[in-house]
Amino acid sequence: MEINFECKGCKREFDCDVGQVGINDKTMRPDFEKPIICPQCGERTMDEVLLTELGQGQMTEATWDA
Ligand SMILES: [Zn+2]
Repeated sequence: MEINFECKGCKREFDCDVGQVGINDKTMRPDFEKPIICPQCGERTMDEVLLTELGQGQMTEATWDA
């Protein structure tokens, strides 16, 4: 599914198809099937991006049944 992120590097907002979204049991952090790709900077880790308000809503929806 597509999640809206803000890149901490270039401050740009972008939609990225991260595939399946889950929550890591150990870290309680989001777990994505595909890498997060910023159109400007390339592959980013979860620490290098922020979830926008839209992204947070999308995450909540994605992890609702998990
Ligand atoms: Zn970037």
